[in-house]
Amino acid sequence: MAQNSNSLNMSRAYSPADTESRIYKFWEESGYFKPDTTSNNPPFVMIMPPPNVTGELHMGHALTVAIEDMIVRWHRMKGEPTLYLPGTDHAGIATQVVVERLLATEGLNRYQLGREKFEARIWDWVETYGSRIYEQLRRLGTSCDWSRSKFTLDEIPRAAVRKTFVDLYEKGLIYRGERIANWCPRCSTALSDLEVKYKEVDGNLYKIRYPFSDESGFLVVATTRPETMLGDTAVAVNPEDERFKRYIGKEIKLPLVNRLIPIVADGAVEMGFGTGALKVTPAHDPVDFEIGLRNDLPAITVIGNDGKMNSAAGEFQGLDKFDCRTLIKDQLMALGLLVETESFQHSIGHCDRCDEIIEPLISKQWYISMESLAAPAIKAVKENQIKIIPERFTSVYFNWMENIRDWPVSRQLWWGHQIPVWYCGDCLSETVTNEDPQICKSCGSSKLQQDEDVLDTWFSSGLWTHSTLGWPDDTEDLKSFYPGSVMETGYDILFFWVARMIMLGISNMGQIPFHTIYLHGLVLDPEGVKMSKTKGNVLNPLDLIDEYGADAVRFALTTGTSAGNNLRMNEQKLESSRNFANKLWNASRFVISNLNKREDSIKIAKPENIINRHDKWILSRLDQLTEDVDRLMVDFQFGEAQTHIHDFLWNEYCDWYIELTKDRLKTHDAESPLSILAYVLEQTLRLLHPFLPFVTEEIWANLCKSLDTPKDWPDSLITADYPVISEATIDKSCIEEMGKLIDFIRAIRNVKSELNIQQKQKIECRIASGIESSLVKSEKSTLENFAGLAISEISDSTILQVHSGEISIVENLGTAYIALGEGVHLS
Ligand SMILES: [Zn+2]
Ligand SMILES: [Zn+2]
Repeated sequence: MAQNSNSLNMSRAYSPADTESRIYKFWEESGYFKPDTTSNNPPFVMIMPPPNVTGELHMGHALTVAIEDMIVRWHRMKGEPTLYLPGTDHAGIATQVVVERLLATEGLNRYQLGREKFEARIWDWVETYGSRIYEQLRRLGTSCDWSRSKFTLDEIPRAAVRKTFVDLYEKGLIYRGERIANWCPRCSTALSDLEVKYKEVDGNLYKIRYPFSDESGFLVVATTRPETMLGDTAVAVNPEDERFKRYIGKEIKLPLVNRLIPIVADGAVEMGFGTGALKVTPAHDPVDFEIGLRNDLPAITVIGNDGKMNSAAGEFQGLDKFDCRTLIKDQLMALGLLVETESFQHSIGHCDRCDEIIEPLISKQWYISMESLAAPAIKAVKENQIKIIPERFTSVYFNWMENIRDWPVSRQLWWGHQIPVWYCGDCLSETVTNEDPQICKSCGSSKLQQDEDVLDTWFSSGLWTHSTLGWPDDTEDLKSFYPGSVMETGYDILFFWVARMIMLGISNMGQIPFHTIYLHGLVLDPEGVKMSKTKGNVLNPLDLIDEYGADAVRFALTTGTSAGNNLRMNEQKLESSRNFANKLWNASRFVISNLNKREDSIKIAKPENIINRHDKWILSRLDQLTEDVDRLMVDFQFGEAQTHIHDFLWNEYCDWYIELTKDRLKTHDAESPLSILAYVLEQTLRLLHPFLPFVTEEIWANLCKSLDTPKDWPDSLITADYPVISEATIDKSCIEEMGKLIDFIRAIRNVKSELNIQQKQKIECRIASGIESSLVKSEKSTLENFAGLAISEISDSTILQVHSGEISIVENLGTAYIALGEGVHLS
C-alpha cells in the first residue's frame, strides 16, 4: 500500500497540520509499527518508559520520544524487526494525590469515601484521561506498536508483580520490619529515600542543658528540633572524645520529662558537630534509630502519623510539632536550661509529590533485601554486558549499587498493587501465594485478612522489561524480544527505575534485560532553568506542535543532543527547525517540478561514470555524509549525525548544487543533472527520515511518483532501507577543488557586500591561479556567474602586477585582482 497523497503537485508551502495526521494514519494502518516476526534478522527492541496514565504530555516526554523514535526508525530502516513497545504507569502516589486534590474540592477525603469507592473514582479518572497521553504521543509521530501496549495494572503485569513478590518472599529477600522510614504526614505514607527531596532551610540550632541525675553537673546537647527531646532515650558521645569519656555510663535526668536516660558511647557521633554530645531520639531520626539498635535503647514515638504530638508527649499531646517546638523552647528558657539559640541553615527532606516536610517515623514496612540482587547487576555492568551511555554515569551507578540500602516497598496508599500477604486472625502467621488463599497455610483457618498497603509504583515498573512481553507466561514475545536492545530514559531515574529493572530482570529472567542504557538530560528553558509550573516557564509540546508542526518540535529537541546533557529549548531552535523543513520542501518542489516537465521518466539509481565536476562532487559528498552518519549513529552521537545531514542539505545541496544545475537544466544538454538531483535528494530523505519523519515521508512519496522506480521499490520511506555505503566512490580531489571554488566565490561576495556593490553587477577580474589554472579555466563560467565577475585573464603565474584601481584577494584557488576603479579601498 503506497501513501495516498492528496495531489500530484506539491503545495507551495508545507503545511504540517494537513499532512501529519494523514501520514500517521497511513503508517499505523499499514502495520509498519509492528515488528516483522517472520524475519531472520536479530530484532531491535526498545520498551518505552511508561508515562503516568493520568499525565499530560510534557517536554520531558517529548524529548524522550524524539530521541527514542529517531533511534527506532533508524533501526527499522536498517531492516531489523523493530519493536517499540508503549505503555502507561499507574504511578501510585502521583495519581492518588491528583484524585485526592479533586476530592478535596468537593470537601471529601479518601477515608470518608472508603477504599472501594475511592479506587472506583481513580479508575473513572483513568478511563477518562488514560488514553489522552496515547493520543498525544501519536501527534508526535511515535512509531510504537500500539497493539502491544500495556498498563502496569493490566492482568499480565499484575501476575508479574505477584510472582516476583512471592518468589522473593520465598527466597527470604522480602521481609517485614519495624524500621524508621520517611513519612509524609500529608500523603499518609512511607516513602523511599528517592522520593524525598532535600532543601536548604533556615532554622535554629538550640543548645540545651541536660543535667546529670546526681546533680553533679550537666552536658549541653544541640538540636534543631527541641520537640523531639520528649522522645529522647539516651545521650550519646563518641568513645574517642576526651571531653566526655568519663561521663559514659552516667545518667541524665531529661528536662521537662524527668525520665532517667543513660549516656552511651557510639562511634556515629561526630565530635565536631554541635557540642559533641548528641541527644538520641530513636523514633524520630534515622541516625538515632541506628544508635538505638546498637545500644539497645527503647524508641518512644512522640509525633504521630498526622504530624501532631501524640499521647507519649504528655502535656504537649495534640499540638502541631512546630507549635510544640515554640512552647518547649519557652519552657526551657524559663527553667534556665536553654544555653543559646543560633540561626542555622540545614537541609530538610520534603515529600517529592506534595512538598510536605518529611517526618522520620518508625513503622512496620515491607522491605526488599537488596544486596544479593545488586551483586549480579553490578557484575553485568563491570563485565560490559550492559553499557551505560554516557560513560560517566557508570561510576555513579557503581557507587549507588555498592552502597545500596534495603528498599521499603510498602506504601500506605490505596492505588496500586495491593501487597499479596494475608494475615491469619487465629495463628497470626502470614500466607504469601500466587493465588488468593482461602485458608491459612499454617493452621487452616479461614480468618484471613490481606495486607492493606500497596507496593511502591517502581516495583511494577521495575518488571517492565519482561512483564510487557507476557512474563510470567513463556510467550513468543518473551522468547523473541527479551533481552531488549536499548533502554533510553532520563538520567534522573537511573536509580528509581533503570537499576531496579536490571536487578529484577536478572532475578526473574536469569539474564540482563537490555544491552545498552542511553541516558538523556532535562529540557530547560532558554535561560537554562528547569521548567516548572510554579516558575511559569513551562512549554506545552502540544501548543508547539500546533504552531510549528511535530517535525520541527522533534528536530529542535534533537538538535545538538548528546547523552546525559541538559538541553535548552527556545523559539529560535523551533523556528530554524521549521525553516529547515520549509527549505527542504521548496528544494524538493524544484526537483520534482523539473522531473514532471520531462516526457520520459528518469530511472532512480546510483549514477555511474560521472564526468561533470559538480555532479561528481555532490555524489562524493553524499557518500562521505552517508559514511559519517552511519559511524555517528552507531556511536550514539545522534545530535552530531543530525547536524551533518542538516548542513549537507542546507548548504551543499540547496545553496550550491541546485544553483549550479539551474543553467544546465535550462539548456537541456545531453548530460542532464536531473537524475543526480533526484538521486541525492532521495538518499538524503532516507538519511533524514528518523529526525524529520513526516515531511520526509510526504516529499519522498511525491518524488517517487515522478520517477521510474523498480518493481521491488518500498511502499513508504518508513520501511525503506537506511543508506549504507558498500563501495564508496569518494573523489577527494574533486571535493577539494569544489571547496576552493566555493571559498573563492564567497570571498568575492564578501568583498562586494562590504563595498555595497550589488552581487549581480559584473566586475572585471584577473586571476593568478598558478597550479590551479586548469581548474579555474574549466570553471570560468561558474566563477563569473556565481561571483559576479568578468574574468579577463587567467594566468599560470602565482602573482601579477597590481594595476591601478585594482585590489587583490588571496585565496587557495589563486589571487584575484578585481577592478574597483580609482579611490575604492578595502577598509
Ligand atoms: Zn506527600
Ligand atoms: Zn493461621
